[in-house]
Amino acid sequence: MALLELKGVTKRFGGIVAVKDISFALEQNEIVGLIGPNGAGKTTIFNLITGVYKVTGGKIFFDGKDITDLDPVSIVKCGIARTFQNIRLFNKLSVIENIRTVLFREADYNMVEALFRSPKVTKIEKQLVEKAMEYLKVVELEEYANYRADSLPYGLQRKLEIARALALKPRLLLLDEPAAGMNPEESLMLVDLIRKVKERYNLTIILIEHHMDVVMELCPRIIVINFGEMLIDGTKEEVQSDPRVLKAYLGEE
Ligand code: ATP
Repeated sequence: MALLELKGVTKRFGGIVAVKDISFALEQNEIVGLIGPNGAGKTTIFNLITGVYKVTGGKIFFDGKDITDLDPVSIVKCGIARTFQNIRLFNKLSVIENIRTVLFREADYNMVEALFRSPKVTKIEKQLVEKAMEYLKVVELEEYANYRADSLPYGLQRKLEIARALALKPRLLLLDEPAAGMNPEESLMLVDLIRKVKERYNLTIILIEHHMDVVMELCPRIIVINFGEMLIDGTKEEVQSDPRVLKAYLGEE
């Protein structure tokens, strides 16, 4: 059974059809690139999968369950996490606190229990910090744990976003332009990082990315969107050699 399946998904904003009749399925452990020119509808597809936008038509299934009309929090609980094209961290909080915001919910029950047995509170605190540090280590940010999130260089903020998404313990991770603003060396490191976390957490990943070298390194399968429509869903070799893709990007006749 597919882990994620979109069936004829459409999204209209007034007169604009941002996403039109998109269907595709992802198997467990796949990593698929989602590419297309600016404004093609890629981020809108993420917003539909994560319940930020409601579909105008079509259905979305995750692990066999219809998630089309669920709210974003319920969708996270199903096991889908994302990062954002425009980084959305808690800027004034420290790096480790950004991870703890996510872990806190999980600790809620324990906290209530702990209120009745106060010596345990410190223990739970310690466990939360340890857990948060574990995620920071995975993305090699542990030395920045106490820095304010907005004091980090752009590339490291993107890694923190990935760590925070991982702390939600997703099965499906949606990465929206994780290499944006990174130099070639940072992009290479990001490729290694994505490979590492995919393996470690047994993830299925959709990667939106304009850096084609990153997409080609990571994704054996690529879906190309143009003007909200699916242009091609194929292997990276098929996509690279498809004249429609070149035309979509370069506007060639
Ligand atoms: P980019 O690569 O530039 O990030 P994209 O492929 O992610 O582009 P989307 O952001 O999904 O493209 O936008 C697709 C279309 O939908 C665009 O025409 C955009 O203006 C429109 N759109 C997206 N969100 C909204 C919204 N909330 N209201 C109205 N139109 C929207």
